[in-house]
Amino acid sequence: MKFPSSLIIGPHQYKIVDFAPGEAEAQHLNGRIVHQSLKIELDNTMAVSLKAETLLHEAFHGIWRFCNLPKRGEETVVTTLSPAFLLFCRANPGMKGVLFPP
Ligand SMILES: [Zn+2]
Repeated sequence: MKFPSSLIIGPHQYKIVDFAPGEAEAQHLNGRIVHQSLKIELDNTMAVSLKAETLLHEAFHGIWRFCNLPKRGEETVVTTLSPAFLLFCRANPGMKGVLFPP
């Protein structure tokens, strides 16, 4: 599966990069969004499905920030919605044509 090299969230383009070797394990992270440098870092040792969920998770953090939502509850909501949204998309491939019209 080919992952995008960047995501546009609000007015910004976040570059998607791998963590430096050993950093994900040392930090106990699967992914991280760094707003200051417009980067989304991912653990490249994860299974592809988990990596996809993690990318959605970090994108939701970016959307959360763009929408200027309160910090309280952010991690719980993002952690709940990212696998749910991934499952929704996979279970409803017909939505692709609705979301991305030709
Ligand atoms: Zn998070």
